[in-house]
Amino acid sequence: MPRYYRYLGELLDEGVERISSNELSLKMNVTASQIRQDLNNFGGFGQQGYGYNVQYLYEEIGRILGLEQQHNIIIIGVGNLGQALANYGSFEKMGFMITGLFDINPALDGHMVRGVPVRMLSELEEFAAGHKIDIAALTMPKHTADKLARRLVNLGIRAIWNFAHVDLELMDQDVVVENVHLSDSLMQLSYNMLRNGKKKERQEKGDTENR
Ligand code: NAD
Repeated sequence: MPRYYRYLGELLDEGVERISSNELSLKMNVTASQIRQDLNNFGGFGQQGYGYNVQYLYEEIGRILGLEQQHNIIIIGVGNLGQALANYGSFEKMGFMITGLFDINPALDGHMVRGVPVRMLSELEEFAAGHKIDIAALTMPKHTADKLARRLVNLGIRAIWNFAHVDLELMDQDVVVENVHLSDSLMQLSYNMLRNGKKKERQEKGDTENR
């Protein structure tokens, strides 16, 4: 669904009002029947002979993804990664607003990132008492992640966007966790490169033998 949402957003930016499953399938590199099947799971949205109304489908998928409401995010750990996330303005377009930044390094206290001041982690409870927090992004070292996650859950935060390289042990808690590991993605790429290289080697070997 996020992928459909992204592609439909691009179509809207290009001024496209409607699209057939065949056209969408070419754009997204998935089969038209896969698209129909995916979207039918959520109630269809298409009309025979008309295709999909891009705006309507975009809004409906946004609704399914819970994007019609604003989500306030705090970032814990305002180093390289934390600042990169805080500096990325496009999250706001999807309603993800970065409203708080926390660190333990006193040198960062009061430092502004896109208009948001860095606060000390010791101010977290006070901040949470006065601000609605929907999501906490963890971008600090992994050894503190588990304890911090429990502290966040105790503050009523029910969604954690975890970048620390650790699997959080929160199964007993009422919280959803999305782990993001860019290195997994890189390793997948490395594996695919290797596989691709071997496939090419086999093809070349086959071509030589056939000559
Ligand atoms: P960094 O050293 O630049 O930043 C870490 C920040 O966390 C520092 O500002 C530090 O003062 C702060 N910090 C340390 N302990 C803290 C605590 N208990 N509470 C709040 N803040 C604290 O590091 P970075 O490059 O930004 O990486 C941050 C984390 O993200 C690391 O754990 C790294 O392994 C991880 N990381 C994950 C991915 C991924 O794909 N998941 C990618 C890059 C980095």
